[in-house]
Amino acid sequence: MAFSLSSYPVTYRAKYTGPGSHNKGWTEEFLEKPHKTPAEEAALSADAAAALSDSRNFYTDMPLVGYTTQYGLSCFEGLKALPQKDGGLAIFRPDRNGARFNESMGGLCMPGFPADAFVKACVETVKRNAALGFTLPYKAEWEKDSFMTADSIYIRPFTYAEGGIGVNICRAPWVVIVTTPVSAYFSAGKSEAVVTERIRATPKGTGWIKAASNYVISALAKHEAADAGFMECVFLDATHRKYVEEGSSCNIFFYLKSGELVTPALMDTILPGITRSSIIELAKDRKVKVTERQIAIDEVFAEAKECFVSGTAAGATPIESLTYQGKKAVFNEGKVGELTAELRDTLKGIQYGTLPDTKGWMVQVV
Ligand SMILES: *Cc1c(COP(=O)(O)O)cnc(C)c1O
Repeated sequence: MAFSLSSYPVTYRAKYTGPGSHNKGWTEEFLEKPHKTPAEEAALSADAAAALSDSRNFYTDMPLVGYTTQYGLSCFEGLKALPQKDGGLAIFRPDRNGARFNESMGGLCMPGFPADAFVKACVETVKRNAALGFTLPYKAEWEKDSFMTADSIYIRPFTYAEGGIGVNICRAPWVVIVTTPVSAYFSAGKSEAVVTERIRATPKGTGWIKAASNYVISALAKHEAADAGFMECVFLDATHRKYVEEGSSCNIFFYLKSGELVTPALMDTILPGITRSSIIELAKDRKVKVTERQIAIDEVFAEAKECFVSGTAAGATPIESLTYQGKKAVFNEGKVGELTAELRDTLKGIQYGTLPDTKGWMVQVV
């Protein structure tokens, strides 16, 4: 998901100006970056499109040398606005992302950003772009492959620290929100995973925080896995080197022969995914026995009949095999399992509005 040419022009920015100031310490603004009409932009040469993209991505009034660029002190969120079957756009559970963003900031000793302001800012950013024509239409053809190739608007809120060069915490961050249209994250067809020897998160570390710095190891491990021909890598725990923790940037589920659906319990090395908790709820609704607990790689090899990873980008993506120390566990003979498909389709149906949103998960934007 590179910062694409078609990143939308209106962005949001808030600056922390201290506990004593108005509006809970934050000063907000919307920035309308350079743009033409969507049709005019689509007709640009590659060079002109790249120049326009750069002009939207540059913020010349923010410091280059600071705790984010020097020490990786930053956290972020990822959520989506989805075209609805009935028309318009709706965001999936933004209140949960807002709450997690606030907790991540607290975990990094930054002043928190209020969850209600987060939701308002996400909604307003998507709305203002849509008003300029930067939006996505619903396409009925997506229904044919369970929305595997469907488009959505990815919303990326993140923090950016003030200037400074000593090792320090960030006390006066910016919060920036950018949006960009995306299509399917994992390419269809190949979904083999490999256990990496790298360690993503350690006890007492930042694994539970959506911290930018956590992604250094994830990116390296994913790059190595891709070089070896795998779509995804899977991390084991740091202490025992035995329990499965997460994918590169997603949570993981195993459906066992006994009928139990297992996902690693939330500890300080596991990121509390909103897709993860939504899947747990959907599985419980279907009377599936769901357990949040440690699961050893040996148990996976002996007992798992289905496996999938979950996240905003991944949705619920089936994993057909997992390779560990040269041995390969193949799930459901390499085909998408029944429960995996049901959960994936239910989640997508709620998100794109082909199934009723009985849980109040969707926030309509336009
Ligand atoms: C964001 C993220 C997830 C998935 O969280 P969602 O809220 O479902 O998108 C899982 N693992 C890691 C490490 C993440 O950063």
